[in-house]
Amino acid sequence: MGLGDKRLFISIAAGGLFLLAAFVGVAWFLIAPRLAEFHPDLPGAVGLAAVSGFAVIAIGLGLVALSAVTGQRVLFSQRITATVIRVLFPFVLMLAAIVGIGKDAVKRSFIAVNNALVGAGRDTIRPGKVLLLLPHCLQATSCPHKITGGLIENCRGCGKCVIAGLLALAHEHGLALTVATGGTLARSVIGEIDPAAIIAVACETDLTSGIRDSYPLPVYGVLNERPHGPCCDTTVDLGRVDDAIRFFAEWCDGQGRGRAAEQRG
Ligand code: SF4
Repeated sequence: MGLGDKRLFISIAAGGLFLLAAFVGVAWFLIAPRLAEFHPDLPGAVGLAAVSGFAVIAIGLGLVALSAVTGQRVLFSQRITATVIRVLFPFVLMLAAIVGIGKDAVKRSFIAVNNALVGAGRDTIRPGKVLLLLPHCLQATSCPHKITGGLIENCRGCGKCVIAGLLALAHEHGLALTVATGGTLARSVIGEIDPAAIIAVACETDLTSGIRDSYPLPVYGVLNERPHGPCCDTTVDLGRVDDAIRFFAEWCDGQGRGRAAEQRG
C-alpha cells in the first residue's frame, strides 16, 4: 500500500481535529462570559484545559503520521501509537460518512496506517511464534474437508482454493496457521498460541475490528479479494502474504532477534 492509502485516514483525522477545535473555540468564546459569573478565573481554566487536550491529541496524531510515512518509530511506546489510532478511528469513520467518503476506503487507509506502524515498531516485537490467521471464506465452498479450528492439515492440497498455497507458506516458514470461523474462535486461538505477531487475511471490516481488538499485539493486515462477492470463495494474493511472512520472520525468529539487536545498536 502506498502513501496515498495512508493519507486518507491521516487527512480526515487532522481535518476533523481542526474543525472540532474551531467548534470548541467558538463555544468557549460564547460561554466564557457566563463562566466568569461563577468565578473570574474559570474561563481561563476551561480554555487552558481544552487547548491542552487538543494539543496532546494533535501531537499524538502528528507523531503517528510521521511514523507511518517515514517507517521510523518516533514514539517511544507502541502502546501510545495504538491508543491514538484506536481513539481516532470511530471519529474518522463518522467524519468520512458526513463528507460522503465510503467506509471501506477509510478502513483500507486505517489498515495501511496500521501496517506502516507495525513496520515502524518492528524492533519492539518480542521473539516468538507468528500466527497466520485466515478467514473460512478462503476455502472453496465445494470442498468437503473440514479445515477450521485446528484441522487445517485436513486440506488435501488439491489447489482448488488458495488454502493449499497458504498452508505451504506456513510450513515453509514454520508459522502457526488457523482458519477461524469468527472473532470468538480467533480470540481463543490467539489466547492459546500467544503469538508474538499475527498476519491476518480478511476483508476491510474484519481486519479493522481484528486489528483494534488485538492491540497492542502487532497485527499485519492483508486484504482478501472477493471475485464472487463477500464471504464466499474469496482469495488472496499469495505474494503479499509471503512478503508479510518474510517481514515478520526475520524479526521474530532467532535471526530476527540478532537483527533487532543490531538495529538498536
Ligand atoms: S486446497 Fe484444500 S481447502 Fe482448498 S479445496 Fe483443496 S482440499 Fe479443500
